[in-house]
Amino acid sequence: MRVLPRSVRARLTLWHAAVLAVVICSFSAGVFLFVRAQLSRALDRQVADDLATIEKVYQDEKGDLGELAHRMGLTLFEVAEGETVVYRTRGWPPPATAPVRIGRRADPSHRITVARDETPLRQTLATLAAILMIGLPSATALAVVGGYVLAGRVLAPVGAMADTARKITAESLAARLPVENPDDEFGRLARVFNDTLSRLHQAFEQLRRFTADASHELRTPLTALRSVGEVALQRRLSDEGYREVVASMLEEVDRLTRLVENLLTLTRAEGGRIPLTPSVVNLGELAVGVSESLRVLSEEREQVLKVEICADVGARCDPDILRQALINLLHNAIKYTPRAGTVLIAVNVTAAGDAVIEVKDTGPGIAPRYHERIFERFARVDAARSTEQGGIGLGLAIARWAVEANGGRIEVESAEGAGSVFRIVLPHASPR
Ligand code: ADP
Repeated sequence: MRVLPRSVRARLTLWHAAVLAVVICSFSAGVFLFVRAQLSRALDRQVADDLATIEKVYQDEKGDLGELAHRMGLTLFEVAEGETVVYRTRGWPPPATAPVRIGRRADPSHRITVARDETPLRQTLATLAAILMIGLPSATALAVVGGYVLAGRVLAPVGAMADTARKITAESLAARLPVENPDDEFGRLARVFNDTLSRLHQAFEQLRRFTADASHELRTPLTALRSVGEVALQRRLSDEGYREVVASMLEEVDRLTRLVENLLTLTRAEGGRIPLTPSVVNLGELAVGVSESLRVLSEEREQVLKVEICADVGARCDPDILRQALINLLHNAIKYTPRAGTVLIAVNVTAAGDAVIEVKDTGPGIAPRYHERIFERFARVDAARSTEQGGIGLGLAIARWAVEANGGRIEVESAEGAGSVFRIVLPHASPR
């Protein structure tokens, strides 16, 4: 069975009222006991005073006892010598049920007994008890009402947040929770939630852009394929003509294949689904291998392709994935550098102890304002030039992922018209 109510507001109110009731109960009991002890002691003192006064009058002038009795009013007393009663007020002895405090003083010659009325004391205590008894439920009721109102006000932002949060969907990720007081607990919660929403929003936007870009990129070669095919169908062509059409179609298919493969790589990479098998890789050997595999491309363009290995440099990384990064950088360098230009790969260790592979070219360079952007997917400085060279805008995105997955970073140093340097920086590890 569920004992506590579901709402925090009701639970807070209940707890608050219960704690207050316990506090008031203990306080009331304390006050009552204290007052009772004080009054009782005072009464005892009065009885002792009465005994002393009666003793004094008895010793001085027994005949004055009657007058004393008159003065003492409600206080009854008896003075006896052995079995003989010397004086006894009217109404002595007090009835057994009467509320009186009895005091005695005795010595061999005489005995004094006093009975002081306890009624005023009892009445005071009864009044006090009544006040406390009325106070407890009233205070508790006030605590319930006050607590309920207060809890409602304090918890109001939570309700507002829940209302807004309920309306947020993938389409309205730009919405934010209301933050009434950014520094209190709820404000902090709302801020954290809003930060999460911002990140989600960004991720969604990126995904949307990526899908749009990818569709666009896929459409271009498909359109080319289609128009080349249509043109070929409309006209009768020689064997040579058909060969050219097929070759041109295959070129587009190649482009599509590369695009799809790159997209797959990136998607799998971002989902963390490409396992790395790191080992200590000799970066010089890696650079030589990559340059040899792309040498034909640079020879076609009559470029000079040089490899400079300045030291025995190694890094702990996955060789296949790092090779992919270097291939992309070198491929770009060859692609964008004009005929008869120079492309250089340099492998070195920095003063800070990092392993570095640099790919330097004498191409058109990249204006600094593009340096961040070119690493994004489908980002290009000059779309026409890139497409003309068979670029699809994913090479640097993949290279950056490949380097970062291996614990390194990728940098670019370039200015328009001054060639470019792309740099892979990795923690150095001596190759065996
Ligand atoms: P792409 O397939 O278009 O080459 P990348 O991601 O490899 O895509 O590169 C992004 C853009 O960065 C390119 O479109 C190009 O504008 C620019 N870029 C990359 N490398 C170089 C370079 N070595 N020289 C000049 N521009 C470059």
